[in-house]
Amino acid sequence: MKKISILIPAYNEEAVLEALYARLGTLANDIKKYTFEFLFVNDGSRDNTLKIIRELAEVDDRVSYVNLSRNFGKEIAMVAGFDHVSGDATVIIDADLQDPPELIPEMIHYWEEGFDDVYAKRRSREGETWFKKWSSKKFYQILEKLSHVPIQKDTGDFRLLDRRAIEALKGMRESERYTKGMFSWIGFYKKEILYDRDPRAAGETKWNYRKLINFAIDGITSFTTAPLRITTYVGFIVSLIAFLYLIFIVFRTVFLGADIAGYPSTLAVILFLGGVQLLSLGIIGEYVGRIFLETKQRPLYLIEEYHNGSRKKTRRKD
Ligand code: UDP
Ligand code: MG
Repeated sequence: MKKISILIPAYNEEAVLEALYARLGTLANDIKKYTFEFLFVNDGSRDNTLKIIRELAEVDDRVSYVNLSRNFGKEIAMVAGFDHVSGDATVIIDADLQDPPELIPEMIHYWEEGFDDVYAKRRSREGETWFKKWSSKKFYQILEKLSHVPIQKDTGDFRLLDRRAIEALKGMRESERYTKGMFSWIGFYKKEILYDRDPRAAGETKWNYRKLINFAIDGITSFTTAPLRITTYVGFIVSLIAFLYLIFIVFRTVFLGADIAGYPSTLAVILFLGGVQLLSLGIIGEYVGRIFLETKQRPLYLIEEYHNGSRKKTRRKD
């Protein structure tokens, strides 16, 4: 019998876990053709999330969990999940019930038809401000233009991935991750299904605008070196203009004589160039910083405890 793994990254989700488990459980009981594994990745929660997961694991062999040693962020929590899922296919789902589990049968259906990556696209985005919608739309447009990798719009991490897609993702060990871009990068056969995204069932979102802006910069710098190329172009154009202007000045001085005025324009040019240079340095710095982080070759995450439900085994690392 084929096995479907459900991968659930959870950070401070005590308010919703039971409801999520109930819905997943009903679903798994209804689908008799497959066995299921619910793999929770507890991403260093400070509330009772781990306790609840442990209780679930005690009564249900389908429940496995990875307890990370601290909060590593969702991107890394997902890698920990990829490394530990055992199913022939894996469904990534948020703990907060914004992704309706009821979509999973449809995903499995398309997977059986041969698709490797069945992703759920939001038809609507209720409970989000117009600014968040607008900024995310713009961001993806820019990213797509710069990286030449088609990015799926209005799509989160809610998707079913075939084993070979999971293996491909496991091979990508960079520490600064932009998983959404990776899903596109690996390719394979993709299928889109539409759904209405619900507002969070309970608890609070872990995002704020500062995080989102950083996420956008990470997304671009981890995916494309286009900004470096753009600085090259800008530098080239500015030099060219400066050169032409220089020739113009020389000729004007020779034929019309010198005049000393022009202090404000000189200052403006200096400030403008200073700004361009700082910006370029900043862009280069982003990439150098990335190189620095990757060359450290640290493990992506540390595990405090791993419980494998199907083997009824718990391994604690100390
Ligand atoms: N999450 C996580 N680690 C974090 C932040 C979030 O594992 O540091 C999980 C969280 O528990 C949830 C999912 O990632 O299952 C999505 O988080 P959230 O709902 O806060 O994001 P949003 O839906 O607002 O984009
Ligand atoms: Mg959410």
